[in-house]
Amino acid sequence: MADMRLEIVTAERVVYSEDVSVLVAPGDAGELGILPNHAPLLTTLAPGEMRVTKDGEETYMAVSGGFLEVIGNKVTILADTAEQADEIDEARAESALERARERVESASSDMDLERALASMRRSAARLGVARRRRRRSPRPDRPAG
Ligand code: ATP
Repeated sequence: MADMRLEIVTAERVVYSEDVSVLVAPGDAGELGILPNHAPLLTTLAPGEMRVTKDGEETYMAVSGGFLEVIGNKVTILADTAEQADEIDEARAESALERARERVESASSDMDLERALASMRRSAARLGVARRRRRRSPRPDRPAG
């Protein structure tokens, strides 16, 4: 099957721009699977993991929310933030998750709680992607299995 174009951009940069065969993304209403020649679509994204298949290889990326649009065999994601697996600083995501957990426990207003929960979802998505990367490329001195 022919590929489709996938562009993932934020206000700051182009995160990803390639021809791909499959995209799975976290829609606000549930997981979205997009194949080439998908019908036109405009929807919102939740924080989570995206999976892309290119030349038969799967890669994962983190997204914190935004919009996904499909028009004419091109998928554009306008993300609040997005990172490819090798861009994610795992220690930073761990400490963001820990800070957010503490804020959830001590939240004194609905707004504090909502912001802390959103921060937890962002950092959990980053950690998920970073940990997959680690499982896929074990350090040479510690072979898998
Ligand atoms: P932190 O508290 O660690 O800044 P955050 O969830 O508040 O995390 P965001 O506001 O979502 O961070 O992102 C700010 C910028 O930092 C974005 O450009 C995002 O891509 C980048 N970023 C955030 N966390 C990480 C991470 N763990 N690794 C790499 N880049 C990150």
